[in-house]
Amino acid sequence: MLAKFGSRSARIGKSVIIVVTIGAGVFGLSSALHLTENGYTDILLLDGQKFDANGYLPWNGADSASSDTRKVIRAADGKSGMMRRPPPLFVNCGWARLNEHGETIAVEVDTLETMQKLGLRESQYRLDDTGERARAVEQGWSETSIDPFHRISQGLPLGGVFDSLTGFARAADTCAFVLNKIKQLGVRTLFGSTGRVAQLLYSSEEGLQRAIGVRTANGEDHLSDVVIVAAGAYTHELIPGLDDTVTAAAGSIVHVRVPAHLQERFGSDRFPVTIWNYTETSENGSFSIFPLDEYGTLKFLYGAPQWRNISDRPDALNQRSISLLTSWSFDQKTNVPTVMIDKVKEFISEYIPELTNAEIILAKLCWDAVFLDKEFMIDWLPGVESCMIITGGSNHGFKFLPTLGKYVLKILGGKPDPYTRLRKCRAPSEEESEAFKVGNLAPARSLNRQTMTASAGDLGW
Ligand SMILES: Cc1cc2nc3c(=O)[nH]c(=O)nc-3n(C[C@H](O)[C@H](O)[C@H](O)COP(=O)(O)OP(=O)(O)OC[C@H]3O[C@@H](n4cnc5c(N)ncnc54)[C@H](O)[C@@H]3O)c2cc1C
Repeated sequence: MLAKFGSRSARIGKSVIIVVTIGAGVFGLSSALHLTENGYTDILLLDGQKFDANGYLPWNGADSASSDTRKVIRAADGKSGMMRRPPPLFVNCGWARLNEHGETIAVEVDTLETMQKLGLRESQYRLDDTGERARAVEQGWSETSIDPFHRISQGLPLGGVFDSLTGFARAADTCAFVLNKIKQLGVRTLFGSTGRVAQLLYSSEEGLQRAIGVRTANGEDHLSDVVIVAAGAYTHELIPGLDDTVTAAAGSIVHVRVPAHLQERFGSDRFPVTIWNYTETSENGSFSIFPLDEYGTLKFLYGAPQWRNISDRPDALNQRSISLLTSWSFDQKTNVPTVMIDKVKEFISEYIPELTNAEIILAKLCWDAVFLDKEFMIDWLPGVESCMIITGGSNHGFKFLPTLGKYVLKILGGKPDPYTRLRKCRAPSEEESEAFKVGNLAPARSLNRQTMTASAGDLGW
């Protein structure tokens, strides 16, 4: 059946172009936002999940990288400066990046130098330096913001940096806000089974393959001038042939209910986004903890290992890692590696003992697409006309919600710039190919080797 969604236009002009965007995560939302704000009038945004009903909240069943309660929004990482314009619903609570060595590790030295170059060094505080800690307090930050695990009062070493520019976005609310905005601006949306894309539709004329729309799970076809695939970790399901450039990787998220009498301790005015064991090799067991959310829970992110789910599908070119809808629902709080639950409990017992035995109400894997250089890919799909891919959030894409769509716009308008040239879909170098394969096949990352939780009881202490 052909859905009545405009007709396929003969010419590609701003005012008549029909764009189908698959995926209403931050990449799809940002694309739709920039297109609609810049004169593209006929845009359909599709997603297999019911974000219009669940508000992107994990406890309402939303399951994607973007559907989260909190995401870190930071201004620099090592040698690269980033975000200048925070997304809506940003809370500037600071970011304590801590280690137990009582020193400033190499990546932090780079970040401090980057901040110096950007003229922002005053906003950073070295935590192994008494003078810098005092400066933070003089400037209004609480003692617990710079030492969230109370290490100094216990006579324990404290190393790392307090970054006062950073904070978090209320992620689900941010996505819901942008979704609402683009709908008001005229973007049409389909969610759930009517929005789940079963396949892309192509025409083939004189050897030229062209994307002409999509077929959704309910059998409807939506024809378009351009298809934008913003499917995150699910990119492989729709676009074959990217096995050696994009992989699906998962971090582990646990939410712990904070007893009422302890909630004040974890408020964003006194508890910053905190990362413990922040190192250059994030496979070293780092933990992030976010300030108390509106639902009375703390989110713990166990950042390592970044799980892979290697497919043995015979058509896979290169043993691709595919994402798996694992996570959480009210009926079944299961299907995460038990090791991750154990690690979170160990961490709590050692660093936040007052939360020992606190109820774990949610445990999920959170999948993102990771591109070769751990940056984004925004480009036309090689060999196919009219199909653009925007993917590769690589575990830090959320904060770019305000800007990503700008580059989609440039590519669509035939106006590439140095950034879009950098973010092209390309074949890997030999070195990248090897690193990619090793990363995918590392036994420590293999979900297949893990014992998974089987029932809600497995989340108990
Ligand atoms: C554990 C973890 C922690 C992170 N923390 C941070 C952080 O603190 N700060 C930060 O800036 N970034 C962070 N990120 C990265 C950020 O979350 C992602 O880069 C970003 O959300 C990716 O957005 P996306 O739109 O590409 O993907 P997604 O949010 O996954 O959206 C893709 C959408 O496509 C839909 N879809 C897929 N296939 C189909 C189909 N066939 N039909 C219809 N719809 C489909 C899915 O339902 C989904 O909604 C983190 C990522 C992970 C994994």
